[in-house]
Amino acid sequence: MCPRGRRLLEGEGGLLEPAEAVCHCLLIESDDGLVLIDTGFGVEDTRDLGRLGFAFRMMRPKGELAETALKQVEALGFAAGDVRRIVTTHLDPDHSGGLPDFPDAEVHVFARELEAALHPKLQDKPRYRRCHLDHGPNWVSHDVEGEEWFGFEGVRILPGTGAEMLLIPLAGHSRGHSGVALRTGDGWLLHCGDAYFHHGELATPPHCPPGMRLFQNLNNADRKQRVANQERLRELARRHGDEIAFVCSHDPDDLDRARTALAAAG
Ligand SMILES: [Zn+2]
Repeated sequence: MCPRGRRLLEGEGGLLEPAEAVCHCLLIESDDGLVLIDTGFGVEDTRDLGRLGFAFRMMRPKGELAETALKQVEALGFAAGDVRRIVTTHLDPDHSGGLPDFPDAEVHVFARELEAALHPKLQDKPRYRRCHLDHGPNWVSHDVEGEEWFGFEGVRILPGTGAEMLLIPLAGHSRGHSGVALRTGDGWLLHCGDAYFHHGELATPPHCPPGMRLFQNLNNADRKQRVANQERLRELARRHGDEIAFVCSHDPDDLDRARTALAAAG
């Protein structure tokens, strides 16, 4: 996405220059097929950006077919059917738009988010798009059951796939927003979705370009919860930053760092 206002959104560049926001998805080879964490926009979205709704016009998505999860999965030599499971941080269009491209996959989601998306309150109606959710996804909803992960409530998902993974509720951006924690050999990767937007927000003291801060405040379902959960993530990064790698959905620097780390790990 290339919203105008790079200086306000990224802290450098021109006022009207386009900024860059990615949709950072993860693809995991499990013992039982591929697992996709978030889908980004879908194939139909790239053909008709109107499907994304009014708010996304300002985000100026490029709508490039080759950047969709489906086309990237195919470019790796797999087929849509190889993606047996999708885990979503939440169901906004930039995270769920690709669901129709994988119609046979199980779609794992935090119960509160599924409820919020399928039966939206008036103020949430503009954010969820029926065209991404109405094709009859094979929903698997999860609720917390007392499991803990570094002091956070969590729920273990995808048993039997060899992937050690938990949904970590981080509500605020949307009502049932959650992070996804994934065991990676010695440590963990925590995909924080939209719980933060700029890597500086996990630093102590935190910093975030003003336009990005405003954007988050305009788009959260519950500001108090969002701010509190971001503070908890900051503390987690302070205490366990050597064991946990953090990525969020839209920060291109997070994506660069994650790619570099993957390449280094071979
Ligand atoms: Zn998002």
